[in-house]
Amino acid sequence: MYDYLIVGSGLFGAVCAYELTRAGHSVLVIERRGHIGGNVYTESVEGIHVHRYGAHIFHTSDKKIWDYVGRFAEFNNYVNQPVARYRDELYNLPFNMNTFTKLWRDVFTPAEAAARIEEERKKDFVKEPKNLEEQALNLVGRTIYEKLIKGYTQKQWGRECTQLPAFIIRRLPVRFTFDNNYFNDRYQGIPVGGYTKLIAGMLADADVRLGCDFLEGREEYLAMARRVIYTGPVDAYFGYRFDALEYRSVRFETEVLDMPNYQGNAVVNYTAADVPYTRIIEHKHFEFGTQPKTVISREYSAEWKRGDEPYYPVNDEKNAALYEKYRALAEREEKVAFGGRLGQYRYFDMDDTVAAALSLVKRELAH
Ligand code: FAD
Ligand code: UDP
Repeated sequence: MYDYLIVGSGLFGAVCAYELTRAGHSVLVIERRGHIGGNVYTESVEGIHVHRYGAHIFHTSDKKIWDYVGRFAEFNNYVNQPVARYRDELYNLPFNMNTFTKLWRDVFTPAEAAARIEEERKKDFVKEPKNLEEQALNLVGRTIYEKLIKGYTQKQWGRECTQLPAFIIRRLPVRFTFDNNYFNDRYQGIPVGGYTKLIAGMLADADVRLGCDFLEGREEYLAMARRVIYTGPVDAYFGYRFDALEYRSVRFETEVLDMPNYQGNAVVNYTAADVPYTRIIEHKHFEFGTQPKTVISREYSAEWKRGDEPYYPVNDEKNAALYEKYRALAEREEKVAFGGRLGQYRYFDMDDTVAAALSLVKRELAH
């Protein structure tokens, strides 16, 4: 009999396992997939750490969380500076002075950039934006919208911008400095040696069984421990009793290329609607790799259906209401605590995931 069974070896489950074993509890982690790490999993291909479930950049403003993950891996000084490709033009993201001076060859200063954007905003201004297109035009004007937002957003959500709710982009960061850093957080980097190594460090003192699906042996697994932390999909746990929660999915086409450097940057967004993928990730650049070959992943947005890999929870009213019903059921489960992006049906960045796991463990240890 274990003190704890943890379902899922993703970042949430791994932080729980580390904290609970450190507190002297015996822990069994079961994982449906054939590897640990959940969606932060990295695998080595040609000596390059490939982010199999999408590019992961650790960023946080919370020093405690930064120091915490730093116990398990050294983080490098990678700073995310994605580039956008629109037809035969290249722009820096997020929207900043580098972007503006390239979009408008007569713009040189922040005041000139601000004046140009203001002029454009006025032309298309609507008082109460009813959809994402109107909202974007209000915020940044037509040039930026057409070249850098429209096609990308349509591909990402599989819908016209006029059919998407305005709230998705309440805020679009616009910077009047020459600063290509995508994130505003104080700390940022990639774990040297890959995320899998970081997760393995967290799981060092737990027993781990791969290829075990909790839902296929629920009763036996429940009997194996005093308490359970479940980080799988909450709706699946309850047999989709109130219908399935929806996700947005992504699909990757990964290729090894016989060249040292394909695009010169880890992330290039393709913002034109007629390019089918949203972006290309070149994994080696996350770790300043100098291997003779390179690995790239084209990322496509995909409609999700039950049974597919769930990626992003859909933050609309319908799904929020459905999740509330599952949450009420989850709260009544005496032996089981639910956590993580699937257990709580919330988009968590990695730093949020670590913080949420630490607070769950704190509650557990207070029992
Ligand atoms: P998961 O990683 O999903 O782990 C859950 C685990 O449970 C999985 O391994 C799964 O196989 C297992 N499991 C599920 N059901 C069962 C079952 N029935 N039995 C056994 N095991 C089961 N965050 C950032 O901070 N920066 C980024 O750049 C970033 N990029 C992202 C890009 C993408 C495409 C996505 C989808 C997310 C990104 N995130 C990023 C968020 C990050 O992935 C999450 O914060 C983190 O992975 C959540 O960890 P988790 O343990 O909650 O979930
Ligand atoms: N976005 C855009 N053009 C870009 C990058 C982002 O229009 O080149 C918009 C788009 O609407 C997208 C949102 O910003 O849905 C968030 O994008 P980001 O890539 O930061 O989010 P992620 O997909 O990584 O969660």
